[in-house]
Amino acid sequence: MKFALLLTSVALSEKDYHGFKVIRASWESSEQTELVGSVLERLDTINLWQPESFENINYTRTVDFLVSEKEAFEFKRRVGNGANVVTLIEDAGDIIAHQATEQKRATRGLRGASYPYDQFLTYSQLEEWILANDDGELMSSEIIGETYEGRNIYGVHLGDQDPTSNKKKVFMECNIHAREWITPSTCRYFIHMLKSAKNGVDLTPTSFSMQELVNILDHNWYIIVSMNPDGYQYTFDSDRMWRKNREPNQGSQCVGTDLNRQFPVGHLTEGGSPNPCHFGYAGTAPFTSREANIWRDWFMQLRNAGGGDIEAQISVHSYSQLIMPPWASDRAAIPDEPEDTFYQMEVANRMKTAAFETHGKVYVAGQSRDVLGYPAGGMAEDYAYGDLGVKLSMLIELRDTGDFGFLLPATEIIPTAEELVAMLVQVSKSLSSTK
Ligand SMILES: [Zn+2]
Repeated sequence: MKFALLLTSVALSEKDYHGFKVIRASWESSEQTELVGSVLERLDTINLWQPESFENINYTRTVDFLVSEKEAFEFKRRVGNGANVVTLIEDAGDIIAHQATEQKRATRGLRGASYPYDQFLTYSQLEEWILANDDGELMSSEIIGETYEGRNIYGVHLGDQDPTSNKKKVFMECNIHAREWITPSTCRYFIHMLKSAKNGVDLTPTSFSMQELVNILDHNWYIIVSMNPDGYQYTFDSDRMWRKNREPNQGSQCVGTDLNRQFPVGHLTEGGSPNPCHFGYAGTAPFTSREANIWRDWFMQLRNAGGGDIEAQISVHSYSQLIMPPWASDRAAIPDEPEDTFYQMEVANRMKTAAFETHGKVYVAGQSRDVLGYPAGGMAEDYAYGDLGVKLSMLIELRDTGDFGFLLPATEIIPTAEELVAMLVQVSKSLSSTK
């Protein structure tokens, strides 16, 4: 009886997006920004997809948002001719329901290493997959911390397992934002592709060779496949659109912190919110979340372990198809360092070409404050570069450019992963050339 009640309460608490639409709005002047911005802020059901906060709404970039059918109509009526309005998704609830059914069907009865690569996995499935793939030779995993809800966060090491190895290190984190399902899936496929190559099975697309892939093992790779397990699992159980972690905030009924606003460089200057109810809540200070501490502590542990230093840091996000080296923080506070920027942009442009040559998808490369058109403080990429001295720090936003956004179909996991790996091959090559 107790079990039945529990099931009912889970079912009832699930957020229903049936009838919700994803709308893209664009306009051409700053005067119109005021009108559109004020209408948007008054919508009760709005879930902003991009930009990442209301303050960053600007005529230079389109705004994508999820909203109820009624308020979608209301929005169009109120802005009138003040903006071009396109419906990207007619019914988000239909897609969410379809993906959930398909995910359950495709993974039912499977365990550990047998989960298909063209499917999204729940957190416990992902955890099982990591443990099943830990062979202690090419790949090892360790628990690097525990979340508020008691889930383990895993650090995966791909490469030379000899503790005295002096190879340079690459640090990579995926799925810091819960709803970006494509990120743990592509990071998982990267591990699979590399393990397969070591066993002589070529899964590489035509844009790079198996040998080029294997050559990335000139470096030791340290990967957090899911940086936000609680938030990620919450997107399966309760709200597909959740972004933050799930730790309660003192003095507030609202739960969760935006983990990619939790780092010290530019913390709470711009792009992060001081309001715990906001989906971009930055916390009262840097490192108030367990997850951001786990990120930093593992980084420090790897650095202090000796051997080669950590020379690249990659944060994997979605969506928009962007390759963004620092800085994300405001240029007025942190000006460019031309020599570093030149190097970072050179690598970013090679990554862009590699992604394009893989499946013809156009990624835009540039400092995030330029590409996005607004600064954002507290991000891992700026912390890695600014405070930890990792010259090659990047934030990659994977597919798509908005047709599905956070609801990208599972059929896109493998091609998107192939693009990501094509980019990582370039990261690795650029480190080799600076030896
Ligand atoms: Zn993100």
